[in-house]
Amino acid sequence: MSTPRGTVTIDVEACKGCALCVPACPPQVLSMSPDRNRAGYHYPVLADGCTGCAACQLICPDFVFEVYRAARPAGVR
Ligand code: SF4
Ligand code: SF4
Repeated sequence: MSTPRGTVTIDVEACKGCALCVPACPPQVLSMSPDRNRAGYHYPVLADGCTGCAACQLICPDFVFEVYRAARPAGVR
């Protein structure tokens, strides 16, 4: 049995710090960094457990996320 897994890339310099992505993530693996990007905004960071559902990509007004899905669990090749 394989569990769908995914990951996202986060273009931190494109982020405007609205934090809409944090509650939008079903497994709650996004949180706002205490650090700021060059524009002065806090940006999200990813913890383990992303499913590749793309909810963050859909809700982000600034196209910060790219979503990648894997058929096999991360680390299995
Ligand atoms: S939704 Fe997009 S712009 Fe808003 S905090 Fe998340 S990554 Fe940044
Ligand atoms: S793709 Fe889904 S699970 Fe992964 S970070 Fe975005 S909202 Fe969360």
